[in-house]
Amino acid sequence: MSQPLKIDDGRRPLELVPGQRAAAPQTREVAICVDQVSKRFGSKRGDVQAVSDASLTIGRGEFVSIVGPSGCGKSTLLNMIAGLMPVSDGRIDVFGKPVTGPVHELGVVFQQHLLLPWRTILSNVLLQIEVRKLDRAEYLPRARQLLQRVGLGDFIDRFPDELSGGMNQRAAIVRGLVHDPDVLLMDEPFGALDAMTRDQMCLDFHQLSREQGKTVLFITHSISEAVFLSNRVVVMSPRPGRIEEIVPIELDGERHVDMRDEAEFTRYTRHIRRTFERMGVLKEERRR
Ligand code: ADP
Ligand code: MG
Repeated sequence: MSQPLKIDDGRRPLELVPGQRAAAPQTREVAICVDQVSKRFGSKRGDVQAVSDASLTIGRGEFVSIVGPSGCGKSTLLNMIAGLMPVSDGRIDVFGKPVTGPVHELGVVFQQHLLLPWRTILSNVLLQIEVRKLDRAEYLPRARQLLQRVGLGDFIDRFPDELSGGMNQRAAIVRGLVHDPDVLLMDEPFGALDAMTRDQMCLDFHQLSREQGKTVLFITHSISEAVFLSNRVVVMSPRPGRIEEIVPIELDGERHVDMRDEAEFTRYTRHIRRTFERMGVLKEERRR
């Protein structure tokens, strides 16, 4: 029998000492602190509770994924962290500062690439610099270098409709990184891509985010993608989204495509699948 996985209870951010809910972690600087956050949307047909009492602390340089069924409140949580919508209850801090409006230290990448069709790839990337009123000349070399790094070096003067979905999504990732934010928030960024492109993007993005030393919060509904990319996987319940558990992923060394078939890897994916089965999100398979 292999060792049981070490699982956090999900109520308490992993690094915190019991009883110190929102205190600084023992080991590293806190990038994002979500403390007992809830979100209700009001509507004529009654309130919708989208997120319920979520607490999560993410340290600088960590890669954390959130997995959960459609409609469980993942995007709502991400949008609240980005300061794009207010919390109903609780508190969110980014690098120790309470989030009260759009947080400029963040980069955000969405499922749709949202590139402007009338601007070239390079000028779409530089839009990020323009809206932040940063010095274009200073960031131009970084924009070119990052586009080169993701394989778009020969396409910087092309328009989005001349490129494939995967290429546009790479450009959107560069746009999220070009202003050198400490934290990148990604909402199902590979969701619109075919399976093969998605696997490759996953691998490339893992390397890129490590090289750039970024803190990443990554939303996905793919258990395997979450395990592959992350230091920790946050499992959310169906709506109203609660954090059901947080699974530290202790896989050594470089990621490679074949590792998804290895026993160490499938232990994690199986564990998370069982958690979803227990919550009634996935139907239990008949097991021998
Ligand atoms: P996910 O990203 O996990 O698929 P969302 O965060 O988009 O889920 O949505 C969570 C729940 O909140 C859903 O039931 C959705 O219909 C509802 N919701 C999201 N945004 C709004 C809004 N602006 N107004 C009302 N309800 C919303
Ligand atoms: Mg969503």
